Amino acid sequence: MDQNSVEKVIIIGSGPAGLTAAIYAARANLKPLMIEGEEAGGQLMITTDVENFPGFDKGVTGPDLISVMRKQAERFETRFITRNVTKVDFSQRPFKVWVGQTLHQAESVIISTGASAKWIGLESEKQYRNRGVSACATCDGAFFKNVEVAIVGGGDTAMEEANFLTRFASKVHLIHRRDVFRASKIMQDRTFKNPKIQIHTNKEVTEVLGNGKQVTALRLSDTANKASSEMPVGGLFVAIGHRPNTDLFKDVLDMDENGYLKTKPGSSYTNVAGVFAAGDVQDHVYRQAITAAGTGCMAAIDCERWLEAQGN
Ligand code: NAP
Repeated sequence: MDQNSVEKVIIIGSGPAGLTAAIYAARANLKPLMIEGEEAGGQLMITTDVENFPGFDKGVTGPDLISVMRKQAERFETRFITRNVTKVDFSQRPFKVWVGQTLHQAESVIISTGASAKWIGLESEKQYRNRGVSACATCDGAFFKNVEVAIVGGGDTAMEEANFLTRFASKVHLIHRRDVFRASKIMQDRTFKNPKIQIHTNKEVTEVLGNGKQVTALRLSDTANKASSEMPVGGLFVAIGHRPNTDLFKDVLDMDENGYLKTKPGSSYTNVAGVFAAGDVQDHVYRQAITAAGTGCMAAIDCERWLEAQGN
């Protein structure tokens, strides 16, 4: 690719937000260049079944959903680079985006680098991921009908997801490493009142136990006296926070205190004119494939109108 050529738009990140932005931008004749990353597809690539994405009445797997979105973007001539962006310079236009030594330039940029769920960091947790271990109750909760499950975390996400899981699970064990919770008072009250939730404080999960195919129990350690115990459960939800993938944009774009990109309310505009953000990289509230896709559409429309206003 010619390092002196200037793209109309570069899209960084290839989950549902980026791919939807690509479909819209391509259909608007912006010939988007998508730098999709080495682990293309984002969080959906580690999601087994997606039953809540409208249009798929029989459900769809996360990777299949990404695959059809990507094909749709390709059909309208989106070009893809399957590598990671290593550096950006948004201080002047055209914007500069490096992939290793290769420089790409663009009149506008859409950022859709997503967020990554934090994991406890156990080998056994990795082994049983998608076989009972999940980081998304909204995505996977319904697969645990009448099963006893556990959720780890003491924040709003853990409490919200624990309550959500009681719709399906026969019992939900909420495991927290301390005896005070970060969650808001209202979420704590709701959780403590829920008869299907049992709270276990000062406990850490030290191992996920299973039969090779699925989770059967957890090994816990008491943080005070280090006593070890076993908890029989069929599923483990990890809700210890997400990390937005924004390291590239530190000191470049405005972020909130947790590192999420700030967008102007009701739009995808960042604080740099011509740079737009969509999906989980700017949303810690909804974090759904469909909301990511919706904001990807917003970013492409904002971008197209902004380029038009610049005379491009
Ligand atoms: P969070 O508030 O950062 O809480 C993460 C929890 O996970 C903490 O209790 C933390 O324990 C625990 N944790 C972290 N690392 C751990 C590890 N390695 N092992 C075991 N436990 C670990 O994250 P969040 O709950 O995802 O919330 C993120 C933000 O979104 C917050 O600002 C939250 O208020 C907001 N949110 C709001 C709503 C709502 O308003 N409805 C819903 C969801 C999220 P410690 O407390 O010991 O550090």
